[in-house]
Amino acid sequence: MRAEAVTDPGLARVENEDAYLLDLEAGFFAVADGMGGHRAGAVASRLAVETIAAGAAGLRDAADLAALVRLANMTVLEQASRNDDEAGMGTTLTAALIREGRAYLAHVGDSRAYLYRDGQLSRLTDDHSLVGEMVRLGALSDEEARRHPSRNVLTRALGTSPEVDIDLREADLQAGDVLLLCTDGLFGLLTDAELAAALALEPALAVRRLLETALSRGAPDNVTAVLVSYD
Ligand code: CA
Repeated sequence: MRAEAVTDPGLARVENEDAYLLDLEAGFFAVADGMGGHRAGAVASRLAVETIAAGAAGLRDAADLAALVRLANMTVLEQASRNDDEAGMGTTLTAALIREGRAYLAHVGDSRAYLYRDGQLSRLTDDHSLVGEMVRLGALSDEEARRHPSRNVLTRALGTSPEVDIDLREADLQAGDVLLLCTDGLFGLLTDAELAAALALEPALAVRRLLETALSRGAPDNVTAVLVSYD
């Protein structure tokens, strides 16, 4: 397994409120995209990633992963309740645990996981956003969702409530598969064909291509990607 990651504030924002985890030894990877004023978004995403990173060694299966994400939820929520500047902060979290040829995914929010296999890109996560729900109901196309003024409104986030509804999913991996975890600052700017073309490259080149493409389009949001190449 090889993995590469990239994160960048983009060209319009000073703060980078995205965070990521790349732990090759534990086979554990994640992206998080924070929200909240006064830099609280950056606090939320980092706290979520640090919390799951600290539990990486004990992870065996989907149940462990779900428990760890619930712990991250409580950790962000408790931090938010202690500090007025951080009240209401939250984060997306899309995490992948890779164990013996299987990927276990845990997902909350509108970051995404994709699988690239045999030249084809498929999405492994649903966007927990207002526009994501509208696309699933057939009320918006993907393209309309991409430009919708309310595209940043989340319907689920980590750290905003004691109960969090986590999407869990498993996928068998094959040699040559590439897993991509990324925030909306990336996938909002690239078509699926462009993502797929980048994922065909060697991992270090692939993440560089993804970031350069986002920057070439003005990168109005923070850009983060974690790429795992499975052999
Ligand atoms: Ca974002």
